[in-house]
Amino acid sequence: MPTNSSSPKSPRTILPDPRQSPRFAGISTFCRYPRTADVDDAHRPIDWLLYGVPFDSGVTYRPGARFAPRAIRDASQYVKPYHMTHSVGVVEKLSIADAGDAPVQPYALKETLDSVAAWARQQSTSHGGSGTPSRLLAVGGDHSIAYANIKATHAAQSQPLALVHFDAHLDTVDKVWGESWGHASPFRRAIDETLIDPKAMVSIGVRGPLNTPTDLEFARDHGVTILTREEIATNTGRSALSKKIREIGTRPAYLTFDIDAIDPAFAPGTGTPSVGGLSSTEALELLRSLKGLDIAGADVVEVLPDRDPAGITALLAAHIVFEILALDAARR
Ligand code: MN
Ligand code: MN
Repeated sequence: MPTNSSSPKSPRTILPDPRQSPRFAGISTFCRYPRTADVDDAHRPIDWLLYGVPFDSGVTYRPGARFAPRAIRDASQYVKPYHMTHSVGVVEKLSIADAGDAPVQPYALKETLDSVAAWARQQSTSHGGSGTPSRLLAVGGDHSIAYANIKATHAAQSQPLALVHFDAHLDTVDKVWGESWGHASPFRRAIDETLIDPKAMVSIGVRGPLNTPTDLEFARDHGVTILTREEIATNTGRSALSKKIREIGTRPAYLTFDIDAIDPAFAPGTGTPSVGGLSSTEALELLRSLKGLDIAGADVVEVLPDRDPAGITALLAAHIVFEILALDAARR
């Protein structure tokens, strides 16, 4: 972060003044953050790059998450910059920009993941400071895209990442229909490639029913901490999460948020809905409890706008994006 003479009133990210330029006017970027091309030298290096991955060729059930980056940008226009619980102005602490959408090829799964990873890495180095690339927050898309953003995030690190994972599902399946790169497999592949450390991985909100217990056993055998939806509601489960967060400590951590961790009553717009999930309030509170983690990269995935009456799932996803940024702002 540059040490210049700027007063505390000089924010690191310039937002349009909603009294001059209304929240319902203009072209949508995430939370009205500037596009990378519009960030001047005084607000560089950029701390966080947000980008869309309009891609859902990795789904095992209902498609449509390719439309989520647009829906979430639209829903995010009413996300305001001051976080009340953390008492932090996100734009005061962080320079944030919208890098647009990563290149995708809907007929090619692995090729797309590789091109997204390469593009994100390049964005991160060209907009970051010397030796400190911009952190990457990918908005999916289905969960297969997490692999790409983890790969791009890991490239800036000298060790495997810790992983904090919100999901109804473990996403540690080896293959579906012979395909290794779908949305059921991103963490299996990230573990295979030692991009993440399964012993520093915690999956929150997991619940059944499952096809088979195989992926559960794989995760357990590799030391993943699994906190089911029932467990996280108990004091024992909350203590286990706190213990895991303390263990991760200052190690770089990646945060991945599959919106289906939330109950379909609160987040119906998703492709593989699972009943009996977290409420919106519980999810926000759990996210806020992660304060102190060094979040090196993140994603928010699996929003399906066509199944999202009144846009409530996209609105929640937009606020989860903000909560993740607020965690980093609160840490600094
Ligand atoms: Mn899921
Ligand atoms: Mn998932």
